[in-house]
Amino acid sequence: MARAWLSLGANIGDPAAQLVQAIKRLDAHAGISVTRQSSVILTAPWGNTDQPDFANMAAEVETDLEPVDLLHVCLDIERDMGRVRHEVWGPRLIDIDIIAYERVEMHTGRLTLPHPFAHEREFVLGPLREIAPETADWIVGIRN
Ligand code: ADP
Ligand code: MG
Repeated sequence: MARAWLSLGANIGDPAAQLVQAIKRLDAHAGISVTRQSSVILTAPWGNTDQPDFANMAAEVETDLEPVDLLHVCLDIERDMGRVRHEVWGPRLIDIDIIAYERVEMHTGRLTLPHPFAHEREFVLGPLREIAPETADWIVGIRN
């Protein structure tokens, strides 16, 4: 079993309900248990600022999936929930990113761990600090 931390965000439709739905779908997967959830925070959009506010949260999971397989489950859930990629940093029904997987550091075309922008995004670090402060400190430490 490995521990991993996910960042979830949504800003169209009913963002809070989509976060709940995404957590349910993650927990329903045979290889994933959601063990902790942060509170949901509302954040002004980042990058492309001409779009609705985001609802963001972090979750801790226990999983027997390898990092890339966990990523694929996240991407499958995004797709099943109707996410269509139109533009980078554009509005989305649901975004599920892996913030960190144990203390794994890796960089491939498909997956970077810890998440390449986590350390500079308060909407990722804030919720993560609530549920896993030592992991948040580790990320900030290795990226700075
Ligand atoms: P973003 O999350 O940056 O808004 P996307 O959700 O569209 O953008 O993700 C684009 C790609 O980023 C994914 O298809 C995935 O292959 C890649 N990626 C690299 N590292 C990670 C990570 N730690 N968590 C999630 N996706 C990642
Ligand atoms: Mg993403």
